[in-house]
Formats: sequence, structure tokens, C-alpha cells
Amino acid sequence: MSGSPYAWHMSTIAWPDLPAAQQPVWPDDAALQVVLAELRAQPPLVFAGECDILTDHLGKAARGEAFVLTGGDCAETFAANTADSIRARLQTVLQMSVVLTYAASLPVIKVGRVAGQYFKPRSNPIEVRDGVELPSYLGDAVNALDFTSESRRPDPQRLLKAYHASGAALNLIRAFTQGGYADLRQVHAWNQDFVRESTAGQLYDKLASEIDRALSFMHACGANPEEFTRVEFYAAHEALSLDYERALTRVDSRTGNLYDVSGHFLWVGERTRQLGGAHMHFASTIRNPVGMKVGPTASPEEVLEAVEMLNPDRVPGRLSLITRMGAGKVRDTLPAIVQKVEASGNPVVWVCDPMHGNTFEASSGHKTRSFDDVIAEVEGFFEVHRQLGTIPGGIHVELTGDDVTECVGGTHGVAEDGLGVRYETACDPRLNREQSLELAFLVADMLLRR
Ligand code: PEP
Ligand code: MN
Repeated sequence: MSGSPYAWHMSTIAWPDLPAAQQPVWPDDAALQVVLAELRAQPPLVFAGECDILTDHLGKAARGEAFVLTGGDCAETFAANTADSIRARLQTVLQMSVVLTYAASLPVIKVGRVAGQYFKPRSNPIEVRDGVELPSYLGDAVNALDFTSESRRPDPQRLLKAYHASGAALNLIRAFTQGGYADLRQVHAWNQDFVRESTAGQLYDKLASEIDRALSFMHACGANPEEFTRVEFYAAHEALSLDYERALTRVDSRTGNLYDVSGHFLWVGERTRQLGGAHMHFASTIRNPVGMKVGPTASPEEVLEAVEMLNPDRVPGRLSLITRMGAGKVRDTLPAIVQKVEASGNPVVWVCDPMHGNTFEASSGHKTRSFDDVIAEVEGFFEVHRQLGTIPGGIHVELTGDDVTECVGGTHGVAEDGLGVRYETACDPRLNREQSLELAFLVADMLLRR
């Protein structure tokens, strides 16, 4: 392969020994090393060129010429890596994106928390139930969710399984998005197996009819643009397990640059963004577009330092700052950070994650989020950017295509005492299909007023 434009090699990568938070304690290092060697020999899941195109698109979001929509599971699971589940999630993101594109006349960059979102950071490494202590669930790539000591033992074979599951998911997504399924003439069909009785579903149907009419008109005029028959869809996950991400990092022989070929877009989480830590160093090393979560305790100074570290060349689209302040704090904490970074001239994409600052425990004991808080944080985000004259570049949400009952509220409100009906998440509560679509209509409105 050497000399081919797609040759990748690993030989020159030396990773410094930096403190790394949130890493699993693998019980058998020899078994881990065997798996990592196997991972290093696997083909890439994504190409460097695709990552560069995404950076380019994100650059448009930094300038306000596009909007990023990132959505998907908090934690993907092997059990839910089925055609039906992947299609439902894809449909949800595509429907949301049609709403945003049509209502706000803005290109939408579609990104899934998918095909790699198998690792979870935890606030507490130990989970206690009825006096029994076990290691916390760290994502399907590390251990299993069942509360038994056998299931919670980290198993490196799961890393391989995560790689193969990601490849299978990405293959299906590529087929769906390139093979005619994402043709704009399908906008009605995406709504078919969805509650038409729901307000958001009906609103969507109306919008889909308008798009149909517009397409028929264009067709009658002789126009049938290729762009309407397929969509670009990118895969993103948190770069949490350094073992996994490093094993899938390759030197692109065309340019000598490093790419993490486990996904197009990687982000550093709120718990691993320490400036001297291994995750930030890893993210600064790869050429993929990257993100960093920014929570309410972040200081403007440390965020700016992170920005200069992750985007020293000031490439538009290279870095997204994914702010997750909480509905009650966003108006107080976000302005100083935005001002500091904008004053530096570094062109970041400002993205709102309205999920992670709004989690609470319901009286039933379920971890949940209120739809109203989610909307309130996005509103606060848009308001801060409007006041500062800066650009709200996108949203990043946890959602699923199914009718789960994990977040409370929305027009056909899930109530706190109804959370148990279909509470299926392996980690954080996700918006269901209807709540996601409703969010898209509300954000479309905010985009028009920004
Ligand atoms: C997540 O995105 O699932 C997550 C853990 O977020 P954060 O790092 O912002 O808490
Ligand atoms: Mn989450």
C-alpha cells in the first residue's frame, strides 16, 4: 500500500505519558495489548479527506453560513445497534434537519453521536445498590450494564466489538444516506411510521407537503439537482478511551498528518478537559475537527488556553466549543467565555448542548431532564450570542428515534410518574422522536430571530 494515497502507517506515533482521567482499569494488561495490536491492524472507519470536508463545513457554521445539528444516544449499546434503531435515529436527525433547513433557509451539517459512542465518563467510579458496591458502567466498549460483578469487569474484547459495531453502523448509514433513502422526495416517508397525531408530526407533514410542491415545481422546470438525492452525514463520539483512539490513529501518508480514523469528529468531555491532561494533548495532535465541552465551572482564561492549544493555526471549523451550562446558568456564565474567546480572534464554532447541564433525579428515582429546561438553555444560548453579536453555530443533543419516556415535558408531555413506561437509556435520558422534532421547530424559530 505504501505510496498509495490511502496508505496509513503508525510507526512514528509516540504518545507522551500524561495524566489521563476516566480510564478503565483493565484487569489483564496482556489481554489488552493483544486487542490493541489487533485494532491497530484494522482498516480505518473514516478517511482523512472526509474529516477535512467536515472541517470545511464547520468553518461555514463558524461564520453563520450553516448550522450544526449533532444528535444521538448518550451511550450507544451493542444490543441497540440494529437496522431499525439506527434508521430511526437517522430519520429523526434528518427530519430535524429538514425543519431547520426549510424554516431557516440555512444548510444544516448533520452529525450523529453514532458509530463509536461506546465509552462513558462517570462522576463516580463506583455504583452502590442496596449496599452492594460495583464498578460503574463505563460504556459497552468496556463493560456491561447489568449490575453483577462479572458484567462490570472491564473486558478488552469489547473494544474490538465496539470497532466492528461502529463499522457496521457506519456502513448502514452510508447506504441509507447515499443510496436513495435520504432523497428529499422521501420527506413524507420519513414521517410514516411516526405518530401523525402528534402536533410536531402534523406540523412536519405540512412542511413536507410544501417541500414536495417546491420539488415538483423545480422538476417541472427541468431541475433535478443531485444534491437533493443524498445527504452527507458524519459520525462523532467522545474521545474518552485513549487506548482505543490511539490504536485507531494513523499517519495520513499524503500529508504526514495524524487522523483518528474511528470517527469524523471527536470531542473532549467536561471531565477530561484538563489542560495538562492526555485527552487534550490527544485532541491537539489529530487533524480531525474536534470539540470540547464547556461547563459552568470553566473560567474564560482556561477556555481561551484550551482554544489556543486545540486550534493554534486558527482554522475555522477545526474547533467547536460545546457549551453545557444549564438553563439557569447559561445567561450568567456564557457571556464572559464567549467574549474572551472572540476577543482573541480564534474562529471557533459555538455549539449548545442543552442536555448535560439540566439533568436531575425524578421522584421515581429516574435520571431525567425537562424539555422546558432544554428549550430554555437553547434560548439563553441564542440570546447571549444575539447580545454579543456572535454566532450561535449549532446544537448538540441526546435523542433517539423511538418513543421512549426519559425526558419529561413536551407538547404531549411525558410526566414524572410516566418515566418508567419506556425508560431504556444505558446512561443519560434522551429526547424521544416527538420531543426532538418539537425542539427542531422551536430552534428554527430562534434561528430566524438570531
Ligand atoms: C456526554 O456528552 O454524554 C457527556 C458525558 O457530556 P459532558 O462531558 O458534557 O458531561
Ligand atoms: Mn450524556
